[in-house]
Amino acid sequence: MTPGGARALVVGAGIVGTWHAVELVEAGFRVDHLEADAAPTGASVRNFGLVWVSGRRTGPELDAARRARRRWEEIGAEVPGVGFRANGSLTVATSDAERAVMVEYAHSSQAADRAAAFLDPEQVRACNPAVAGDVAGALHCRADGVVEPRRAAGALREHLAQQASDRYCFHPCRRVSAAEAHGVRDTSGTRWAGDLVVVAPGAAYDQLSATAAFAPQLRRVRLQMLETAPYHRALTTSLADADSLRYYPAYEATSLGPLGDQSAVAAEHHLQLLLVQRPDGGLTVGDTHAYDEPFDFALREDASEELLARAHRILGTELPPIRRRWAGVYAQCRDGRVCLREEIAPGVWLVTGPGGRGMTCAPAIAADTLRAAGAVT
Ligand SMILES: Cc1cc2nc3c(=O)[nH]c(=O)nc-3n(C[C@H](O)[C@H](O)[C@H](O)COP(=O)(O)OP(=O)(O)OC[C@H]3O[C@@H](n4cnc5c(N)ncnc54)[C@H](O)[C@@H]3O)c2cc1C
Repeated sequence: MTPGGARALVVGAGIVGTWHAVELVEAGFRVDHLEADAAPTGASVRNFGLVWVSGRRTGPELDAARRARRRWEEIGAEVPGVGFRANGSLTVATSDAERAVMVEYAHSSQAADRAAAFLDPEQVRACNPAVAGDVAGALHCRADGVVEPRRAAGALREHLAQQASDRYCFHPCRRVSAAEAHGVRDTSGTRWAGDLVVVAPGAAYDQLSATAAFAPQLRRVRLQMLETAPYHRALTTSLADADSLRYYPAYEATSLGPLGDQSAVAAEHHLQLLLVQRPDGGLTVGDTHAYDEPFDFALREDASEELLARAHRILGTELPPIRRRWAGVYAQCRDGRVCLREEIAPGVWLVTGPGGRGMTCAPAIAADTLRAAGAVT
């Protein structure tokens, strides 16, 4: 495929579709970008914005996260609306048992690979003075960063529209109903043609006939989140608690036995604390994981109370009032692959299923699709 003058279509304006548009424009394609809704409201605007290298599994996943982190930093310098900050993270221990697990991990090659080190309580407070609560130490990872989830993809689309106005066009309210060789059809009956077509539908991966065959390789996961009014202190890092060690594959080789069982409410909701401060001072706090559909349509207050109690314990002060609560759903490959990438019709690639690392890895996922499709070498 010779990109000069070639046409590409991208379906889905979440972060995965949007990064494909960025890379395709960069490679010289003319890109039409279709989105079902007036503006995307999927996982990409509901997440923490964590560019989370520390938790990634050694191998292709860590490699993708590292490449993506570099790309986020690069584009963040060019497109300030993305909100990239290289703020690092602290995964905080609040008991001796959690501390012991983290100390052991910090001596492993996995920690070295992720630039992660164990900090004693005084070092934790020096690193992030807002962590003024009950802390027995923390894993510090300098590689982690953050972007602004509600703005990042929109900022990238605006950047494309300004920098490549003759080669990029965003089409909201265009729901694609069918994929066919080198094109798609939307629900108004319009056929859109492209030499290369990328369908990035997020969790709606089973709603096109050509994509349904891949549904058994994927599952949906529902998470519960909240955000506070501005907090009075500045957090210099993102925060996680020790339960995050149970959910991130980077810790698979570490003995987590000393952590014991999760509390009943945490076990019921598959809960961990992640906390990110937004530029206006608000704190995004989560999360929970539900794996079985149909998902509850309601937000569960016991999970929110548990998350807020954990944040209170680590920060050592009351949190501001909650100003928003929401749930989000992402698509995840069941076999642990970084994402599902399949040519579902000639020239048409389905890309979805990055799970809880899609915001982190989207730039690398997009670059890899262009290579797989032969659009770049
Ligand atoms: C609560 C929560 C917190 C998370 N936190 C993080 C985090 O901090 N860091 C991280 O790395 N990852 C995180 N994730 C995961 C990450 O958000 C997702 O992996 C990522 O956003 C998936 O992006 P996407 O573009 O594939 O999907 P989406 O964001 O769902 O976008 C898909 C888009 O495609 C559109 N679409 C679907 N079907 C059609 C169609 N037929 N025609 C046209 N358009 C269509 C949809 O309207 C939607 O806008 C989190 C996820 C959730 C839910």
